Amino acid sequence: MSRRPTPPPSRAPGSPASLRSANQLRVVTLLRESPDLWTQAALARETGLAPATVSTIVRELSEHGLVDVVPGSGRRGAAVRLSPAAGCVVGIDFGHTHVSVAVGSLAGTVLKEEWQHTGGGEDHREALELARSMLAGLGALEAAAPPIRAIGLGLPAPVSEEVVESDAIFPGWAGVNARAVVEDFFGVPVVVENDANLGALAEHRAGAARGTDNSVFIKTSAGVGAGIVVDGAIFRGARGTAGEIGHLTLDDRGPACRCGKSGCLEAYTSTPFIQRQVAGALPEAPVAADVDEVVAAARDGNVAARRALEEAGLHLGRGLASIVNLLNPSLVSIGGDMARAGDLLLEPARIGLRRYALDLAADTPVVAGELGARASVVGAVLLAADSIVLSPSG
Ligand SMILES: [Zn+2]
Repeated sequence: MSRRPTPPPSRAPGSPASLRSANQLRVVTLLRESPDLWTQAALARETGLAPATVSTIVRELSEHGLVDVVPGSGRRGAAVRLSPAAGCVVGIDFGHTHVSVAVGSLAGTVLKEEWQHTGGGEDHREALELARSMLAGLGALEAAAPPIRAIGLGLPAPVSEEVVESDAIFPGWAGVNARAVVEDFFGVPVVVENDANLGALAEHRAGAARGTDNSVFIKTSAGVGAGIVVDGAIFRGARGTAGEIGHLTLDDRGPACRCGKSGCLEAYTSTPFIQRQVAGALPEAPVAADVDEVVAAARDGNVAARRALEEAGLHLGRGLASIVNLLNPSLVSIGGDMARAGDLLLEPARIGLRRYALDLAADTPVVAGELGARASVVGAVLLAADSIVLSPSG
């Protein structure tokens, strides 16, 4: 595994060294954006650099093992791509009842991934041990595997200054400096982000919100949170807790929420709400049916299951109304476990939105996320890839 890179020596702006490294960065950025082969002529055209400069940069990057040069026709006809051996990135998404890991290319493309359900209530050491064994199972930790250059870590809780803020929301990580602990555990640089923010990043770059500049992603599982993309970047707010809409108060005389308040959106739209609503009402019902059982029953026409999803959707739409009034996104995508209900949840959510939002915002599209349960781990891989600077001197 790679160690945290030491910062490159400072270079005066405009000096030959700073110019060279800026030019290298332009070439590397293009190679990362497209995993395809690039001819050196195309690199020169896209970067505006002289062909001879591109040729020198490619030679340097190749000598450091960062790019592979595939012979073509003529001296500058050789094609170039980022070398898979130059490294990889890892995404880890810790949920309330799952651990998901993925290995990605330096361009942020997921190459392999695994998902495991957990019993919940693990402390952070146990969760990390499980993630390590899953990564080992994917072959990512073998000596011959490409070095892991960075890890993106998703946590389902407000993350401020890399510390999980609330012990009520994700007890196994409460008060833990997640970045420091995970860096120490894996010996690799780590970037930490709230899981809904990661889902928003993934849907924005590779899912339902592709092509928009402003979008909102709502993760509805055991908890409810939003990730907000403004002008193409995650909006975190002053302390990193923007988007905690699960704790938007809908009715302060409503049911108790695990955050300590009452009548939060989450208390009406999360999976425990659905489970409570249908408890005992499904045929041969287990006391706590999981979401998939509720959805299956609703599709079979079970009235209690349909009504529970409808009510959760209406409340969700009411929460969405506040968000679209405030932010006016191009699109809202819905992910998390509840999203598997599809239009059984989304149609009442659209109705709730129309009922409570300003007329101008009421037709904001509300769609299912395209990445499903993978959204956060895909976002973790993208975040990790974004975090590394690839340079022969880095
Ligand atoms: Zn709450």
